[in-house]
Amino acid sequence: MPITLKTALGNRIYNLEPHFRAMKYKHLFGPVVSRRLGVSLGVDLVPYKYCPLNCVYCEVQNTTHLQTRREAFFPVNEILTELDHFMLDRPHLDYITFSGAGEPTLNSSISEIILYIKSHYPEYKLALLTNGVLLDSDEVLQEILPCDVILPSLDAASQELYEKVNRPQSGLLVSDQIAGLIKLRERYAGQIWLEVFIVPEITDVPAELKLLRAAIGQISPDLVQLNSLDRPGAEDWVKAASTQRLKEIKNYLAEELAMPIEIIAKIVTPPEAKAPDEEIVHLIRGSLSRRESTAEDLAFMLDIHINEISAILRELNAEGKLQTDRRARGVCYSWK
Ligand code: SF4
Repeated sequence: MPITLKTALGNRIYNLEPHFRAMKYKHLFGPVVSRRLGVSLGVDLVPYKYCPLNCVYCEVQNTTHLQTRREAFFPVNEILTELDHFMLDRPHLDYITFSGAGEPTLNSSISEIILYIKSHYPEYKLALLTNGVLLDSDEVLQEILPCDVILPSLDAASQELYEKVNRPQSGLLVSDQIAGLIKLRERYAGQIWLEVFIVPEITDVPAELKLLRAAIGQISPDLVQLNSLDRPGAEDWVKAASTQRLKEIKNYLAEELAMPIEIIAKIVTPPEAKAPDEEIVHLIRGSLSRRESTAEDLAFMLDIHINEISAILRELNAEGKLQTDRRARGVCYSWK
């Protein structure tokens, strides 16, 4: 029986049975309409903010567990049971995506989960969003090879700016991260879409862009996606790059790189999902009209996954409906 499923960007019609809504998920979020992956079911494999990096632009704020150590974090069955429940009716999805408010490859059980999805749901495409830090490990690289598309990041190519922008765990070298990405290209037959996040006046200076272009050339991804800030990041000095500047950077990179380069556009809203989910927006509006809150506060109070809240806040902020203020406990939102 077709039902309307609430997504971050509006109601979508799916052929789901009502039992779908009876289960509360801890590891799944969405499906969200993502600008890079269309209708995407998020699978979150790590607890909140476990990451080897602490990027200045991170929309889920500062990393609380800065680490490269891999852990199981959760019983695998806990994640697979949720997946099986969600997938019972084979909903329409463009991708099942490992992402979340942390680095998915830190989960030492990721291989088991990938193999399960590929064997039980072979008709679905599997995507991995990763900062790429652990890809210099042969073990990690081998584990993620069955994914259909891997979306790693590279924001700086010099150690100085890597430390300034990505603030890695002590001892991490950007040269190792680049070497890992090159190794990924050599061994991986699937699509690599490399995200480059531009921090204006920091990473878009000529010397850094030259290094980045050379590194991207060595990595040879299938696609380069230029990104910039949508809503306040971990540090308030990070500003969004203008569209004009992103176009200039794209042209500069294209002078020597053969692969397609795109500026990640604002979400193109599908016709059947014209606006963010009204009920969730209503809840957010009610809450933010009464008192300011961080994204994490809202996720906790409304019992909605942080990534789903983040996607809606991004939209509402772009529409000028939110006021943002940076407090000691993070970026606080209130309704204008
Ligand atoms: S942006 Fe991604 S890689 Fe950077 S700190 Fe946030 S979760 Fe980690």
